[in-house]
Amino acid sequence: MTPFAYRAGELHAEDVPLSRIAEEFGTPCYVYSRAALTASYREFQEALAAHPAGRDGLVCFAVKANSNLGVLSLFARLGAGFDIVSGGELRRVLAAGADAGKVVFSGVGKTEGEMAQALNAGIFCFNVESAPELERLNGVALRLGKRAPVSLRVNPNVDAHTHPYISTGLRQNKFGVAYEDALALYRQAAALPGLNVTGIDCHIGSQLLDPSPFAEALDKVLALVDQLAASGITLHHIDLGGGLGIRYGEAGEGEAPRVLDYLTPLLQKLEGRGLRVILEPGRRLVGNAGLLLTRVEYVKTGEEKNFAIVDGAMNDLMRPALYEAYHDIQAVKPRGEAPEVYDVVGPICESGDFLGRERELSVGGGDLLAILSAGAYGSSMSSNYNSRPRAAEVMVEGERVHLVRHREKVEDLYASEIPLPRE
Ligand SMILES: *Cc1c(COP(=O)(O)O)cnc(C)c1O
Repeated sequence: MTPFAYRAGELHAEDVPLSRIAEEFGTPCYVYSRAALTASYREFQEALAAHPAGRDGLVCFAVKANSNLGVLSLFARLGAGFDIVSGGELRRVLAAGADAGKVVFSGVGKTEGEMAQALNAGIFCFNVESAPELERLNGVALRLGKRAPVSLRVNPNVDAHTHPYISTGLRQNKFGVAYEDALALYRQAAALPGLNVTGIDCHIGSQLLDPSPFAEALDKVLALVDQLAASGITLHHIDLGGGLGIRYGEAGEGEAPRVLDYLTPLLQKLEGRGLRVILEPGRRLVGNAGLLLTRVEYVKTGEEKNFAIVDGAMNDLMRPALYEAYHDIQAVKPRGEAPEVYDVVGPICESGDFLGRERELSVGGGDLLAILSAGAYGSSMSSNYNSRPRAAEVMVEGERVHLVRHREKVEDLYASEIPLPRE
């Protein structure tokens, strides 16, 4: 599905010209396609339904990839579950109409308050990442007179061959319990009266374009499932995490695997085991379904470099500054003149404030640019650095445009700050 395409010389989101969105909602603005979000969710559902081992599977959208209520409410309506990493994300998914019984709670640092909140909401499972977390969860559950459903996040020690900041399945990462310790920890969990051991999970990294590390990780996790069964601990679900990559459009980048091709070999390994499959995709569900619309304020030409200085910046889309991530950039209405090479940069006082380097563009001051594939880890990682209000966000549905986030007002930014009292 191609949610963003040129028609009559102008880039559209579904049936809406992007210039109309810029006029009505201003820039910078995140633009999502409802059809593309729906299609990416359905791709997972259909791949699960295509194999007996996936029939009762659950797709839990990793909320940190995009926590906008418009996006979350769409997934909730489609029947998705959610993978959360904080009490704040739990509040968000409930506000978006999620079923708490389809929520898994990941993360290495859950507080007692967050555990109590999730127990009271009645979530599907806690993905526990350490021995002290098990003890703490047991204590909180007993105080509330509940039993916490628990899965241990096992670190299978496989190399996902991705950027070090987004690789999580290696021994040196802070995530999960060491593979060698998992059996002992499961025994400990099974003996704690406030816990109900229900599953196992792993998440090995993000933006994986090669599906083979998933299979490697699954083999290791299944070996553990067998050892657990032999010691009398029967599990009911297996959570394979997220991490499936998307295309960002960089030259030489591989094709993103189809969800069916990623999932089928995994489901084959699970056949006949009676384990319910949980998936936690984030980026793959939203990344290509969103773009950041920004306007060129100035074109600055120099001897060494040309700059297109835009009104979007690293506070709006942090990925280029943080991981040197590549996003394809297109002129909304290319001028038809010979393109020139530009660094597309924001107005923030940091040399790292760029959205793209050395891009061929036919643009001038006042033109609109689309920073593509910005639906994941875009708005959710945005900040107010340089006292910049966060961008508006809209979701397009055919010819309609739904505002899903108001542009922040500057007053909002300091509303909870307090100047010193008068002397
Ligand atoms: C971030 C994260 C995900 C989602 O990762 P994507 O690469 O966006 O699919 C899933 N599970 C856990 C535990 C995570 O931390």
